Amino acid sequence: MLTRRKLMATGIAATSGAMLIRPFAAMAQNLTGDSYDTDSGQVSIHPVSHASFVMDTPAGRIYVDPVGGAAAYEALPAADAILITHHHGDHFDPETLAGLVERAGSVPMITNPTVAESLPAELQGSNTVMANGDSATLLGYDIRAVPAYNYTEDRQGYHPEGRDNGYVISVDGLTVYVAGDTEDTPEMRALEGIDLAFVPFNLPYTMTEEQAAAGVTAFAPKVVYPYHYRGSDLDLFESLLAESGAATEVMRGDWYTA
Ligand code: ZN
Ligand code: ZN
Repeated sequence: MLTRRKLMATGIAATSGAMLIRPFAAMAQNLTGDSYDTDSGQVSIHPVSHASFVMDTPAGRIYVDPVGGAAAYEALPAADAILITHHHGDHFDPETLAGLVERAGSVPMITNPTVAESLPAELQGSNTVMANGDSATLLGYDIRAVPAYNYTEDRQGYHPEGRDNGYVISVDGLTVYVAGDTEDTPEMRALEGIDLAFVPFNLPYTMTEEQAAAGVTAFAPKVVYPYHYRGSDLDLFESLLAESGAATEVMRGDWYTA
């Protein structure tokens, strides 16, 4: 099993033009982030909790599915953009959003349609609604909403097809996939050119470790961040992925230590 230390030592820079993993830079905050080169600067990843993280890009900080109260984000720079996959409470919390927006001022947001319906009136003006298949720009970066859903019969009630989003964001040559709550759908498996992928596994809401490993093997991102895996077996996922022969590196974040 690769440890982060070993990953840093071996790197993947030799085979990747757009991306270079470096030891994370010293940050003036109590959260750490892994950094990746893009054509215009660096992207760093800051896990917050479960499904929530902050992606620091050359154009600004993108908060993904921020929940848990605005205080959980005080150590990080204010949001420049907010991305929300769907309306479940571990992804969308109006109070957290209100606190983040109060700190940052007006912040562009992108949400799926069910979150848009539940947004407080004062936040609706800065929100762009995206449905599966839609394209837009966020902080100048191309972003595409991709399907996130359950296909297993007894799980379809959690995330029915067509309602919730994953996102693919192109950050100056670094392509990032945020899967949202999904199984290893045909659409996930068909993704191409993904550098960083955030992939969930937990039952009954998303998928098994086996499905996640098979899905990741199919679309072969350069790096995968397992997230949204509370109650699941991260070691099992990592060993299944390794057994599959996938070249994808697994990055472990501090999603559940707070
Ligand atoms: Zn959900
Ligand atoms: Zn969830």
